[in-house]
Amino acid sequence: MTRHPFATNPTIFGKILRGEIPSKKVYEDDLTYAFEDIAPKAETHILIIPKQHLIGNQDAQTGDAALLGHLMVTANKIAIQLGVQQTGYRLITNAGEGAGQQVPHFHLHLLAGPSLPGF
Ligand code: AMP
Repeated sequence: MTRHPFATNPTIFGKILRGEIPSKKVYEDDLTYAFEDIAPKAETHILIIPKQHLIGNQDAQTGDAALLGHLMVTANKIAIQLGVQQTGYRLITNAGEGAGQQVPHFHLHLLAGPSLPGF
């Protein structure tokens, strides 16, 4: 994916990463930050983002495989931390505006809880 500089990431998630606007952190490591979605669509709704500014999965390239894999493994760690790994959870990434992507910074939605709609 095209990687943009951290300091000038203009998206709302860039501002969250730089501490310019508040967020409810649930997990952080060298590559990743995770926080509660401001408008939860399920009992548990967490956003998991890379600290590097990648636009979205629509830009994914072979060189991004390690980072994208890290995000998936991190999602499972967060599910364990939140107590939803055994009952089940859903990961979604919206890739592009036509799929509903509002924030042009890659993110996984981690959703869990009794009211998840089926596909
Ligand atoms: P998407 O539509 O896939 O781009 O998802 C963007 C998500 O970001 C939505 O679920 C929003 O509710 C969420 N969101 C937007 N602004 C914030 C914020 N300041 N803090 C936490 N979540 C946010």
